[in-house]
Parts: sequence; C-alpha cells; structure tokens
Amino acid sequence: MSPRRDPQKLLDAIATEIRGHVPCGFEICEQATNLVPGEGSPTADVVLIGEAPGASEDRSGRPFVGGAGKLLDRLLEEAGLRREDVFITNVVKARPPGNRDPKADEVAHHLPWLEAQLEILAPKLLVPLGRHALNRFAPDVKITATHGHVLERDGRTLFPMFHPAAALRNPKLRETLHEDARALRAAL
Ligand code: URA
Repeated sequence: MSPRRDPQKLLDAIATEIRGHVPCGFEICEQATNLVPGEGSPTADVVLIGEAPGASEDRSGRPFVGGAGKLLDRLLEEAGLRREDVFITNVVKARPPGNRDPKADEVAHHLPWLEAQLEILAPKLLVPLGRHALNRFAPDVKITATHGHVLERDGRTLFPMFHPAAALRNPKLRETLHEDARALRAAL
C-alpha cells in the first residue's frame, strides 16, 4: 500500500496536526493539557463519536478513558465489538474549560478534523454518542426519538446512542444504553 493511501499514516498525520496546531487563538485549545485526536483501528467499520474530551482524556490525550469510557467499554463488549476494532473520537478535540458545552465557533474550528478522519475511515456505521454529537450529523432529529435505531443521513448510516456520561448521572438511562448496545449488535 502506498504511504499516501495507508489509512494509519493518514490518521497519524491528522493526529500530529491536531496535537501541534496551537497557538491558534482559541482558549479551548490553548488551555488544554493534551488535545485528543481519537484512536482505534484504521480499518474500523464502526466509528463512535463523543462531544469533547473530559478531564481524564485531557490528562491522558486519549478518548473515553474516564468513567464514561469504562461504561463505553462494557457497551462495546455487549455490542460484540472490541475497542481495538473500532475508532473512537470526538466532535471537538480539546476539553472545554470546566466541561462547559463547546461554543459554535469552537465546533467549527474542530469540525474539519472530524470530517477528514471520517473521509479516511469511511465507516459502515457511525455512532453519535449524545445529542451534541448527533446534532452534527442529523440536526433535525432528537436523540430521545432516534437512539438505538439505524438512521440514514447524507450518505452516512448513523446509529445514535445516549452519551454514557448521561447514564452515569441518570441510572434509568443505563438500561436503555445496554438495550441499545444489544440492538447495535443486531444491526451490525
Ligand atoms: N466524553 C466525551 O464526549 N468524550 C470523551 O472522550 C470523554 C467523555
């Protein structure tokens, strides 16, 4: 495979660009301990997309390694997937200070990296985690109405799920997330 077409090399190049792009004038990037490009298989059929890194991710530079990440690992297992076989990333690659919602200009600043990653990965299924991630791909629908179901948008196949962090705050959501993980296994 020529290096130009090697997806791992292309993803590595994006990760290097993300990690090294500051100073850029955006507080969210310049205050981050580590930017978090995402990680996983360069040939993943399934890509999971969160909103933005939290404190543990900011410290480690890796996506979904805190409490929400531990729950995500169990959900993946339930869906019959291994973490190393999927790709996990976020819409925004830097932790918003105090875990606030990312602002529209911050999302616009980061979105081209996600689009570039998705172009390389060309996944069969994209799993937006939570309403913010879903909003990037299907702004016309609600996560409460679409979670656990396949949805086609702009040539992409989506399988929205609630954000694992929401289930940590609201135990009632936890069972729904587990059911949706089993529905994901059936959808694959
Ligand atoms: N929440 C997210 O949306 N992404 C992470 O990487 C961690 C927590």
